[in-house]
Amino acid sequence: MPPVIESEEQSDLRAAVAALGKRYGRDYITRTVAEGRHPTELWSDAGKLGYLGVNLPEAYGGGGGGVTELSIVLEELGAAGSPLLMLVVSPAICGTVIARFGTEEQKRTWLPGIADGTRTMAFGITEPDAGSNSHRITTTARRDGDDWLLTGRKVFISGVDIADAVLIVGRTEDARTGRLKPCLFIVPPDAEGFQRHPIDMELNAAEKQFELVLDDVRLPADALVGDEDAGLLQLFAGLNPERIMTAAFAIGMGRYALGRALEYARERTVWKAPIGAHQAIAHPLARAHIDLELARLMMQKAAHLYDAGDDIGAGEAANMAKYAAGEACVNAVDQAVHTLGGNGLTREYGLASLITAARVARIAPVSREMILNYVSHQSLGLPKSY
Ligand SMILES: Cc1cc2nc3c(=O)[nH]c(=O)nc-3n(C[C@H](O)[C@H](O)[C@H](O)COP(=O)(O)OP(=O)(O)OC[C@H]3O[C@@H](n4cnc5c(N)ncnc54)[C@H](O)[C@@H]3O)c2cc1C
Repeated sequence: MPPVIESEEQSDLRAAVAALGKRYGRDYITRTVAEGRHPTELWSDAGKLGYLGVNLPEAYGGGGGGVTELSIVLEELGAAGSPLLMLVVSPAICGTVIARFGTEEQKRTWLPGIADGTRTMAFGITEPDAGSNSHRITTTARRDGDDWLLTGRKVFISGVDIADAVLIVGRTEDARTGRLKPCLFIVPPDAEGFQRHPIDMELNAAEKQFELVLDDVRLPADALVGDEDAGLLQLFAGLNPERIMTAAFAIGMGRYALGRALEYARERTVWKAPIGAHQAIAHPLARAHIDLELARLMMQKAAHLYDAGDDIGAGEAANMAKYAAGEACVNAVDQAVHTLGGNGLTREYGLASLITAARVARIAPVSREMILNYVSHQSLGLPKSY
């Protein structure tokens, strides 16, 4: 019988990435965070093995797969305790947008490096005064001869310190009012007028978040990706993979936490039987497993739709997958910490820091409430309050 959900190649990829993840594991990430550095060895090994660019076109050094394959990579690394957050941003958003809408020159310049991990691209859409309402972004590009001058502020932009460029979402000057007409620019972080300030996050992760200030940053005409009039379509080509990959990040983390809790629950004995025999411990863990599996099924649906070219269908499924995965992750981590009792809060067992990490999947890149709004209006046809 042919495989129903994943092809043989995809299962093989899953097994191979899991093996790489196991070689590094949670201890490796804990060590790199403590040393204040990035997981460069894992990033570069994953790049050499072709995992970072598995979704990018073969003609530009990628694996010729889709977001289905890339989500497998992130999920499995996460399940081994060593997720690479920049996979959500560099190959999934930036790589996809450039592959689909970039010029030949932009593809040749960026895609091979993004695929083998030698170049990384960050992505900046969030603004302090816009937040969830991206129609309100004010980062503005105005023409100056053939160049562009880009001015604005961004917050919570991940990985700018290790990025070779940031894909910045702005709007053109003549589109300052009305609905968002976004345009995307490749901005080098050493450009004059570009400043970054780290944000002090309560997150135990190697990838840092930054506030960006762009003050008349001069960019050549070819910094613009795609068509300045095709805006939203291009943006969503990147945002659906971002949601699918955030789901993969959350499912990986949830699986990791659940695995640690199961090991503990099988061994720890304070009455006659191990605590995992008590249904009050077993049932919430079983529920967490079911919720993670369900979220993964939705993520696979979203990834399949996206890879098949159904951007609209993928939009709804990607939102639902991100929602389900975020909730499943937060609950799995919560139950895992609880299963370990006092040890759940020790540094040694390393689960407590996942409590804040898991919340990221509930907030970013689009919050739980904004997904519920989307489903209320788009899927269910209910009226809007805002
Ligand atoms: C670790 C981390 C990494 C990130 N990395 C990036 C990155 O690389 N690039 C990038 O561009 N951004 C990034 N972000 C930003 C992230 O996408 C935003 O935090 C997110 O979109 C929410 O925006 P906000 O923080 O401004 O919250 P707000 O929009 O201010 O929302 C605050 C609260 O109000 C609720 N709310 C808002 N509007 C409504 C409504 N209409 N109905 C009901 N509830 C509502 C929200 O659900 C939320 O709970 C990152 C964030 C984090 C935490």
